[in-house]
Amino acid sequence: MSIILGFLSLVISMALPVLILFFTGYEGLHFSMFFIIPVGALIVGYICGYGYFKGLFKSNTYITGKHYFIGFILSLICIVGVEYASYMITCVDPQTNEIVYSLDGDHVSNYYTDEYGDLDFLTYKKYMIETTPISFSYKNKSLGDVSNPIVGWIFTMIDYLGVVVGCLFSGSMQKDHPYCHSCKLYKKQKDAFNFPKMAGEGFFTQLENCLANEYPQESFNNLLDSVTLSPSLEEEEHFLCKLIYCDNCKTASLKFELHELNAKNKLEINSDFEFLVDVDYESLMNFINRSAIA
Ligand SMILES: [Zn+2]
Repeated sequence: MSIILGFLSLVISMALPVLILFFTGYEGLHFSMFFIIPVGALIVGYICGYGYFKGLFKSNTYITGKHYFIGFILSLICIVGVEYASYMITCVDPQTNEIVYSLDGDHVSNYYTDEYGDLDFLTYKKYMIETTPISFSYKNKSLGDVSNPIVGWIFTMIDYLGVVVGCLFSGSMQKDHPYCHSCKLYKKQKDAFNFPKMAGEGFFTQLENCLANEYPQESFNNLLDSVTLSPSLEEEEHFLCKLIYCDNCKTASLKFELHELNAKNKLEINSDFEFLVDVDYESLMNFINRSAIA
């Protein structure tokens, strides 16, 4: 599955910037924001890796360094594919002598420059990187153009790196899913319940007592009786408890997230807070079924 999906998204990631170039003359792969953030390249890279890593997830394959390496190779294929296909549609308009990205006109390979010689794929790329001015603008005001071979290469490398990073990032998104190593399956995840931030201390003390109890199951069930998943809490500071479980070996754990207001007064997950605890599978399944009925 990962091979089919990987191939599909590789093709899409290569076709997209080339089609944009063909129809609008705009180089999507080299679109950046705030001077140097290669947004276009990151998106292309993300699409490039998405299918492959999604396929690994769907087929329950635990993602390791080997898969990231394949992702890296995919992103290189994507870069070469986009650049080569773009070169194939690069022509020179005989009337204006300007470069156009369409199939009518004289293909650029029929031209040469004194400094670079015949414009085959590699020399053309080199020529474009080293001579195309890079324009800087801030809030729609142009700060001027820089035309310098070194700057050209740096920006090109940043874009290529963006494709690689975007691709590996799509892998890390899939790897974020918890995995059951004994069953070789990705675990399932479900929002279980939430409670106000204020109630946190009380809840965690109770949970600790439960787990230390001689009959943890019973007291744990009592604790679960006191909580629900309340949508109204999502507007205020709260703890969200996610249930992570493997149906195959019947193991379950609870993962708590703290949703807090940040400096901009917006709710955000506090990444410093992390709490994961193994719990009884049956009690939790009963709880989930009960809340589904209620
Ligand atoms: Zn399992």
